[in-house]
Amino acid sequence: MKVTEHIQQANGKTLFSFEIIPPKKGQNIEELYNNIDPLMEFKPPFIDVTTSREEYVYIEKKGLLDRKITRMRPGTVGICASLKYKYNVDAIPHVLCGGFTKEETEYVLVDCHYLGLDNVMALRGDAMKHEQYFGKTAGGHQYAAELVTQISDLNKGKYLHEIIETPYNSNFCIGVAGYPEKHLESPSLDADLRRLKEKVDAGADYVVTQMFFDNQKYFDFVDKARSIGITVPIIPGIKPISIQRHLQLLPQVFRLDVPETLVHEIEKCKDNNQVRQIGVEWAIEQSKELIAKGVPVVHFYSMGKSDNIKSIASAVF
Ligand SMILES: Cc1cc2nc3c(=O)[nH]c(=O)nc-3n(C[C@H](O)[C@H](O)[C@H](O)COP(=O)(O)OP(=O)(O)OC[C@H]3O[C@@H](n4cnc5c(N)ncnc54)[C@H](O)[C@@H]3O)c2cc1C
Repeated sequence: MKVTEHIQQANGKTLFSFEIIPPKKGQNIEELYNNIDPLMEFKPPFIDVTTSREEYVYIEKKGLLDRKITRMRPGTVGICASLKYKYNVDAIPHVLCGGFTKEETEYVLVDCHYLGLDNVMALRGDAMKHEQYFGKTAGGHQYAAELVTQISDLNKGKYLHEIIETPYNSNFCIGVAGYPEKHLESPSLDADLRRLKEKVDAGADYVVTQMFFDNQKYFDFVDKARSIGITVPIIPGIKPISIQRHLQLLPQVFRLDVPETLVHEIEKCKDNNQVRQIGVEWAIEQSKELIAKGVPVVHFYSMGKSDNIKSIASAVF
């Protein structure tokens, strides 16, 4: 089922969902299941599966370093199929511009269609680790809006090189990313919102936000989005802080603010067990307020271990 249909069917009740990251190449998928299992009692209608950019690795050969490009966490579409099969849940693959030609994207989408995946999340992807700025892959897309157009076209039977008139078209529900504190490369929040509107105009059906720690940022973002004609559901993304280093890492990587009260609470912690507990308590308060305001879904960034997400979900769902 589509995300938008799940939201409609919930009839105003806030849903619980989460995102997972594929295991590193060579690791056991059972560990992923072990982290998903405890969350299934909260009946997530959908689970997102991220896609990672390729990166360079250096392999030593006879004293020389050989540079190879590889994807460290492959398997997004396969994991989606396995989640659908194992848990009977809608699994949403993240599809990236970066690292894919338009042809490769078309093949990924055809696989998703044949597997019965009803939703895809269309993202640009970040720059590769050695790059300062995102560089378009040869034969690929520069911006997520172009990827949304490709997916919308496919839904109408418009493949890259031919139009195929058939009743068997894909009918993907398309998600895109939104940034309550603006995307790090954008000159202003308003400029970034206009880009978000372009993605919606190109066919995006819903938005999932980047993490934020101050709900007011999300409420203001939704108000601004509505005022420029973005009417699709805007799903808040929540990440519980779990290690002290997040205080530096998250603002550095995502250019977002951590509220003073939260900073103080985390600075007082003696170890990461205490930090994890504070992160859970903060996310519970955030979730309670979001639910009280009637958000359609609270979407959690799980980043591996799920015990903290379970504690939050137990308190609020
Ligand atoms: C919910 C969510 C899930 C994510 N999942 C993944 C994942 O699985 N894998 C991964 O690698 N990354 C993921 N990301 C990170 C995402 O790929 C990065 O934030 C990336 O830098 C931007 O992606 P986007 O789709 O928002 O890009 P875009 O919408 O293309 O925007 C990127 C930047 O370009 C600007 N822009 C857009 N169009 C134009 C234009 N025509 N001219 C000039 N500027 C323009 C925007 O304002 C913005 O600053 C996720 C992010 C979110 C919020």
